Amino acid sequence: PETRRPLIAGNWKMNGLADESLLQIKDLAARASKISDPACDVLICPPATLLRDLAKAAMDSPVAVGGQDCHANEKGAHTGDISATMLKDSGAHYCIVGHSERRTDHGETNADVKSKAEAVLREGLIAIVCVGETLSEREAGTTLDVISDQVRNSLPSGATAANTVIAYEPVWAIGTGKTPTVLDVQTVHAHIRTELNELMNDANRVRLLYGGSVKGSNAGELMAVENVDGALVGGASLTAEDFWPIVNVCI
Ligand code: PEP
Repeated sequence: PETRRPLIAGNWKMNGLADESLLQIKDLAARASKISDPACDVLICPPATLLRDLAKAAMDSPVAVGGQDCHANEKGAHTGDISATMLKDSGAHYCIVGHSERRTDHGETNADVKSKAEAVLREGLIAIVCVGETLSEREAGTTLDVISDQVRNSLPSGATAANTVIAYEPVWAIGTGKTPTVLDVQTVHAHIRTELNELMNDANRVRLLYGGSVKGSNAGELMAVENVDGALVGGASLTAEDFWPIVNVCI
């Protein structure tokens, strides 16, 4: 079987001020640094305002930092936006694109997400492309069709297992405390793997993350599911105390 190095990624969303955030990442970095040969990658995606400081604080530790979104262009007249070039310049090694909160709150389409992911790859960063069905789509029985459409149309051209990660995040599971059954996760992840096999050569090596109400108490069971190669974690990534038990499942 293919071996895929798991990735445990934290998405801080619009949370974090300098002092407390530095304490949290230092705590996380210290815990991870005690592991002699980490078996997974660990990532924190803080607000862009904190990237440079947190990258510095986590330097020489197994913890990497990344952006939560980027503009498709390198620079220019786009007030309030941040480019992948800028994220890289601030110390990022990854960038999330197409998170459901971006798709919903900012009307991002699959085409937008694809362009952003391509900007991430141009900078040599790793794109974490998020997909996931809404509750009404799940109830209508269209989950796999929605996922296919998102994967096919959001995947950046030039995607490889080294530069692209897919995160399956059912929208109804994000921040709600609800999670799909293990069988549902297994079904969707297998479906994503099958789709990727038609789109790229090294699909079997692409990491597929599960996201949506992952916490210390359910991480073990979710990470054991076939084709689940890590997690994208929101709420439970904000403190090292909550995040560590999730990281600890894989590291
Ligand atoms: C997320 O937004 O990526 C997420 C998974 O959030 P939570 O873990 O809080 O559900």
